[in-house]
Amino acid sequence: MNQIISPVAAPKIGFVSLGCPKALTDSELILTQLRAEGYDTSKTFAGADLVIVNTCGFIDDAVRESLDTIGEALAKNGKVIVTGCLGAKGGATSSAAGSLVREMHPSVLAVTGPHATQEVMDAVHLHVPKPHDPFIDLVPASLSKIGVKLTPKHYAYLKISEGCNHRCTFCIIPSMRGDLVSRPIGDVLNEARALFESGVKELLVISQDTSAYGVDVKYRTGFWDGKPIKTRMFDLVAALGELAKAHGAWVRLHYVYPYPHVDEVLPLMAEGLILPYLDVPLQHAHPDVLKRMKRPANGEKNMERILRWRETCPDIVIRSTFIAGFPGETEAEFQYLLDFMAEARIDRAGCFAYSPVEGATANALDGALPTEVRDERRARFMAVAEQVSIDKLRSRVGATMQVLIDSAPGLGRKGGVGRTYADAPEIDGTVRLLPPQKASKVLKVGEFTKAKIVATEGHDLVGMSV
Ligand code: SF4
Repeated sequence: MNQIISPVAAPKIGFVSLGCPKALTDSELILTQLRAEGYDTSKTFAGADLVIVNTCGFIDDAVRESLDTIGEALAKNGKVIVTGCLGAKGGATSSAAGSLVREMHPSVLAVTGPHATQEVMDAVHLHVPKPHDPFIDLVPASLSKIGVKLTPKHYAYLKISEGCNHRCTFCIIPSMRGDLVSRPIGDVLNEARALFESGVKELLVISQDTSAYGVDVKYRTGFWDGKPIKTRMFDLVAALGELAKAHGAWVRLHYVYPYPHVDEVLPLMAEGLILPYLDVPLQHAHPDVLKRMKRPANGEKNMERILRWRETCPDIVIRSTFIAGFPGETEAEFQYLLDFMAEARIDRAGCFAYSPVEGATANALDGALPTEVRDERRARFMAVAEQVSIDKLRSRVGATMQVLIDSAPGLGRKGGVGRTYADAPEIDGTVRLLPPQKASKVLKVGEFTKAKIVATEGHDLVGMSV
């Protein structure tokens, strides 16, 4: 007798991903596992069997946003699992990880810290049992190497390590994510190759400290493609550059500290193997402030290093973030930062007015500055930074640049939006592409086009595809 099996709808999980690219890659791992086990996703809280909120706990605004989202998910659904950095924080009544979330939202089903795919899956299984389906109990081959991606098809983040060995006084990330753990270099390169093979045209290397890659494993020799390769920033970047070259793609480095060994990757940029772009979170320029911040590479001569980088690779674009009004910052120290900014001509600079983060050791430093002073210094910094950025953008008018297309409705008949090597997605500027003059010219998302830069628009460029 034939047995009729009626299809059972897969349980649906709602998912909210908040926070930085590192949290995004955690979300991708969890979503990949959910998909592999046969769970479906729901676009709404109400339509889900359970909701997972991946939180951010870095600054007060992010904490508020995370707590509000958990509250909304509880109100609309009721069954909520919390993961991510906020899940690692203690609360007012207990310093145990997770207490802050539990104090604010006692009815959440489970709380985990960041990078906890298995714990999250265990909690999901407990509350929404795993669907049994012999066809989906195996991870599809296409998913097993690269997993579910939350970025558009043409760019992807590649996380090379977790955690951080530094103890910057304004930061609580090490207490949430732990010490540095570098991923095996063979795994990282396999993931990169799978991403390029799946159509990724821009790979964004991320971590808490990309320059520290391999320190925790004493730069041990790993294997990739049957050959030995050291777990070291230079070796990784060189191999990524070769892979990218074979696929006509870009590699962009984020979160690099100005250590002497970073100088070694500049020739790779000058050769065109990786993008001449470095995201270097400097946070300040004055040596005494950097020491109070306990910043990595605080003893290095950053100005000399940046000038040398520009000599080796004149096209280099440097992005950085700064903090104005750190406890004890004198007017002279702040002026030193402004002078540094004007001389180093950081292409893309962001600045935060210092704001205490709960649990950070900087809160105990003497010399806290009034909010008005911190805000005023931030505004003064941004005035200098914006002028540098505007001058730099203007100097691009007339140049022909390669542009990666992010959006091009109707094959670009009405134009599109893209980015040059100088612009990382989400954080930097864009190029507004004008409608092509030739009717035969089409613009497609995820493809490169050459564009003549014809004007600037605030922090963006305007270009004509040629
Ligand atoms: S380098 Fe400093 S700011 Fe960055 S994650 Fe480590 S401790 Fe935090």
